[in-house]
Amino acid sequence: MDSAENRNNLENFWHYAYNDFVMKGRAERVLGMEISMKVVLEQLTKIFPPRNKKTGTEVIAVNQFSMEIPDGKLIGLLGPSGCGKSTVLNLLCGLQKPTSGKIYFGDDEVTGLPAESRGVGMVFQNYALYPHLTVKQNIIFPLQNLKGEHRPTREEMDAKAKEVAEMVQIDALMDRKPSELSGGQQQRVAIARALVKMPRILLMDEPLSNLDARLRLQTREEIKRIQNETGITTIFVTHDQEEAMSISDMILVMKEGVLHQAGKPQEVYDNPKNLFVATFLGTPPINVFAGEIKAGCLYIGDENVMETPGVTDREVYVGVRPEGFVLDARGAFSCKLKGVEVMGRDISVISTHDNSLNPTVRSIISAENAVDTAREEVRFTLKPHKVYLFQKDTEERIYLD
Ligand code: ADP
Ligand code: MG
Repeated sequence: MDSAENRNNLENFWHYAYNDFVMKGRAERVLGMEISMKVVLEQLTKIFPPRNKKTGTEVIAVNQFSMEIPDGKLIGLLGPSGCGKSTVLNLLCGLQKPTSGKIYFGDDEVTGLPAESRGVGMVFQNYALYPHLTVKQNIIFPLQNLKGEHRPTREEMDAKAKEVAEMVQIDALMDRKPSELSGGQQQRVAIARALVKMPRILLMDEPLSNLDARLRLQTREEIKRIQNETGITTIFVTHDQEEAMSISDMILVMKEGVLHQAGKPQEVYDNPKNLFVATFLGTPPINVFAGEIKAGCLYIGDENVMETPGVTDREVYVGVRPEGFVLDARGAFSCKLKGVEVMGRDISVISTHDNSLNPTVRSIISAENAVDTAREEVRFTLKPHKVYLFQKDTEERIYLD
């Protein structure tokens, strides 16, 4: 039921009139008030029933997701493919109904409101433009469906289309059809269309995934700029941690329907709550070793690499960020040297270790250091604030005193 309902809703998304919110948005604009707003998700859960009732199992796509998203910020919703990101967006915009839980925009509960009354702008990965309409017609499409007194005049529509087209820098392409545009330009049209009614909230589902690498970099900066200029609370979905880290004011890290951690990108990177968050953020990724706490010290293999005050004896996972290694001939931690990659300012030292959970250990050190590649062993001291300990069973973080 859900997928048919969803597809139908999706096709009709841009046919919806946003009468409630346009009225509200205008009134607030006239009064010079802030139109963006915080978004509150309360114990939000979405369970998809099995396709085949006898043999299938249900999918818990979103599981007890609670979060207060501050207003006027760019939020990166991040997690591996299939973790429930699109489902969260679909619940927020009203394309799908939650199994349980509540959604608030500002102080208004919107859980039961149809999509057209929520005042949400949505940008999809595949742009979803109308091929037979020009750029300008695509942009003003949502305005043309407004009814009665809320329907702008032709001049107002043209002015609004021009305003948002200039904002996303496609104002020179207004008479073209989507097939005459590059992928990047098509995505800009989709963004303009989502902005034309001044949504209270802008949702973007992997908006950059169909673009090539260079365009992806450029367009993500554009999204940052547009969000800044409009001040619209924007939730940006991606599976690419670097993309989310680089432009977001705040990131939400999800796995298997569960929100694992939320915060400023650097804070989450510096202070991951569990092994999943630690491994998901960072390029190159964090190095993970099997280790053991004995009498207040951390051992990796039989080497005592660090003091760990206050942690009782146990087996642990040890995460070491690539920048957490200091080259030191007398350092306590030794690895088998495999190679060195010079990357301008930095050197990436590639080595192996019997206790490493990854095939190679990657450490990044300043290019001013000389690595003797003739040697079979490389020794390091570890920077304590770049080393994280995790419970072996729950993979939750263990904090030092
Ligand atoms: P993401 O966007 O993070 O890749 P989704 O939100 O699309 O993840 O999907 C989350 C989970 O819910 C996946 O296991 C997916 O297969 C499942 N799912 C998504 N939509 C439906 C649907 N309409 N019917 C059944 N299962 C679905
Ligand atoms: Mg998705």
